[in-house]
Amino acid sequence: MKSRVARLAACLVLASTPVVARPLEAPPPVREAFDIVVPKPPAPVVVEGRAQLVYELHLTNFSQEPLEPRRLQVLDAATGRVLGDFAGPALAARLASVPAGGKDAVTAPGRRAIVFVELDLPPGEVPHRLGHRIDYATGEATFVVAGPDIAVDATATVVLGPPLAGGPWAAVHAAEWPRGHRRVTYAVGGRTRIPGRFAVDFVRVDEQGRITRGDKDRPADALGYGADVLAVADATVVAVRDGMAESASIAGNPKHAVGDAAGNFVALGLPGGRTAFYEHLKLGSVRVKAGDRVRRGHVLGALGFSGDTTGPHLHFHVADGDTPLGGEGVPFALDRFTLLGRYLDVGGLGARRWDAPPTGLDPHRAAEWPGANTVVDFAP
Ligand SMILES: [Zn+2]
Repeated sequence: MKSRVARLAACLVLASTPVVARPLEAPPPVREAFDIVVPKPPAPVVVEGRAQLVYELHLTNFSQEPLEPRRLQVLDAATGRVLGDFAGPALAARLASVPAGGKDAVTAPGRRAIVFVELDLPPGEVPHRLGHRIDYATGEATFVVAGPDIAVDATATVVLGPPLAGGPWAAVHAAEWPRGHRRVTYAVGGRTRIPGRFAVDFVRVDEQGRITRGDKDRPADALGYGADVLAVADATVVAVRDGMAESASIAGNPKHAVGDAAGNFVALGLPGGRTAFYEHLKLGSVRVKAGDRVRRGHVLGALGFSGDTTGPHLHFHVADGDTPLGGEGVPFALDRFTLLGRYLDVGGLGARRWDAPPTGLDPHRAAEWPGANTVVDFAP
């Protein structure tokens, strides 16, 4: 055993040994920055033949200074191939600060920013793991932090029957809307979640693109009002709510408490701990109760105008929890539908006919999530 003096001498020798080999680049300085979390790793879902990965990075500033995200790169963790590269306006459009209302891009100490990521990939090119690289600035200086290496969720997408019959139905959703389903977080039950990450609002349209047969402010005149909503699978009813009044006018619908926003609803338990939610149902229309077993196609209730909604429609989503706000939205696919077209500008919904679908695309779609603002028909 070496004496303390001998060890001290060894240290002095090491300390005085000339450096004979230097790395070409000094390692970056260690500094505190973001805590980066992906609350719900993505599971691929197919839209018009392309795989979609939809998820978020939560960036919480644990440093003592404001940090401004400048660039996000998403990588195939195995190969380093860049799958997504967002900077400047493309990043700003995906970045939301929490709480909302602060300076968008700058994350003050203690604050959180959410980066909303949607990747569109050929189906055969979905990697098993994703890596991330975030460039950020503080003052004049810029730095890089490696974000989490996450596994792509290999759980098979649940494939469902249609939640409505016939058509045409506009499948209204868009990832980029700041207050659309995909971007609305709810911190309830001790966690913040996005239940509507893959939610679709189905609005009935006619061949001319009209959505109402009379007074556009009268819910009962909406073409879809009262339409049967159908069980998407053989399932057990998990929960229902009926009895919430509907506003007599669309413009007069009041803002509801967060727990009432779904209005009258039915929740169906699906395999794998997933639940399908049908929301804003017509007052008094719910035909099932919790515990009922239903077969695919069973009529659950009717499309209505209850809860927080700007017009009669069916809100449909699938989540990993059994309450409307208490689960993370997960992707789902519909086993078949006819793609009639899409609204390139959804502001035209109700005012004009939809735009044509992409040329060369087979209108008969199978096992896909309806694309943003598409118009679909469920007729056999
Ligand atoms: Zn909705």
